[in-house]
Amino acid sequence: MKICMIGTGYVGLVSGVCFSDLGNSVVCIDNNKTKIENLKKGVIPIYEPGLQELVTKNYKANRLNFTTDLKDAIKNSAVIFICVGTPAKKKSNTADLKYVFQAANLIAKNINKYKIIVTKSTVPVTTCDKIEKIIKSKNKKKKFDVISNPEFLREGEAIRDFFYPDRVVVGTKSKKANKIMKSLYLPIIKKDSRYFNTSRRGAEMIKYASNAFLATKISYINELANLCEKTSVDIKDVSMGMGLDQRIGERFLRAGPAYGGSCFPKDTRALVYTADKFKINLSIVKNVIKSNENRKNLLLQKIHNIIGKNIKKKKITFLGVTFKPNTDDMREASSLKMIPYLSKKGALINYNDPSGKKNILDKIKNVKFHKNISSACYKTDLIIIHTEWNDFKSLNFKNLVKKKNFIVYDMRNIYSPEKMFKNKIKYFGIGRSLV
Ligand code: NAD
Repeated sequence: MKICMIGTGYVGLVSGVCFSDLGNSVVCIDNNKTKIENLKKGVIPIYEPGLQELVTKNYKANRLNFTTDLKDAIKNSAVIFICVGTPAKKKSNTADLKYVFQAANLIAKNINKYKIIVTKSTVPVTTCDKIEKIIKSKNKKKKFDVISNPEFLREGEAIRDFFYPDRVVVGTKSKKANKIMKSLYLPIIKKDSRYFNTSRRGAEMIKYASNAFLATKISYINELANLCEKTSVDIKDVSMGMGLDQRIGERFLRAGPAYGGSCFPKDTRALVYTADKFKINLSIVKNVIKSNENRKNLLLQKIHNIIGKNIKKKKITFLGVTFKPNTDDMREASSLKMIPYLSKKGALINYNDPSGKKNILDKIKNVKFHKNISSACYKTDLIIIHTEWNDFKSLNFKNLVKKKNFIVYDMRNIYSPEKMFKNKIKYFGIGRSLV
């Protein structure tokens, strides 16, 4: 099938490449010229395991192409996926749909025969109705269907998630569009994934409802972790004991820093905004947002409890700064709240992250990137394990730090408090107060 992806970011690039790997002819479009030129040279703009190999393979096979020329790509495609960003608006917390509507206008100008226009971007309920209106207003006679097919892939696991999703949600009442979409996804749903056809608005809602639910799960376990710290209970045991109940499930039930990333923070806020517009009080989601914001301050307070009020000239090492492992994405990472705060208080910050140096941290005073874990940890006062990259899972802290009296604050509960205690390392985790 001939398809095109408008927007070659995480979602557009990963899903475009994966569709091409399934034998489709895919054109990835972006209005960022440098990004497209780089992709043509094999330079991948994001860190995502396995993506480089898949891009090279399918580009060489001529199933995958990159362009800034939207016109031809639209004219030649049967299915057009809108994969542009929908960031939170600065003032109102709602999803900014300007890129989506730009794409809709460009499609409207170039539509030449029947097309399926798919929103893969996360968009508030009724957005597809608006896209349809835009395209119809410029094309009285042309036939097309606007449908919703939200994307559930996770950064860091994106390729696996694309090929083996729990479900593929397609929102349309058009039999023709549904048939075509089902055939496009056939190699995936033939394995073990459920294809779920629902209404267009239903599909739009499912995406936000899912993200808000997962954010709720994380905030729930994070708040319970606070109670565990006061009652000498290990939150890891609580997560395990709860998660074994299939009605609850173990995933997204690991206590840690505030949730971040490109989706949960903006999607929870956008969902509340939509609900408010319809005069519905989503009090649970509102409190999740609040709880997550509070958590950022709470962990900063904990850092003070651990190393004292005056942290001037204290050496603090961050192991991992991204919001999760296996991605270079810094959007809404909790390190972006912690590092500037600690630097302002006079701490000397060193960090290592397997996805490399972060430009966003360059402007902050006394912050230094280290290529090696050992140089980031050398003679440090406090190690903060912020992101659970595999690289940080079996470290010999004493060998790395090479001084006495350092502290490890393991925000991902990777290490055993008992072992740390035996090794005479001052150790703190999240929701565990053994030491
Ligand atoms: P992104 O910022 O990484 O990529 C968006 C791309 O769209 C950019 O490369 C931008 O240059 C391009 N673009 C913007 N306007 C354009 C236009 N008019 N023509 C061509 N290209 C244009 O965003 P992302 O993380 O891929 O997210 C895209 C959407 O998917 C969002 O709605 C997001 O909420 C949703 N989503 C993201 C993830 C994720 O893990 N990142 C997962 C599921 C869903």
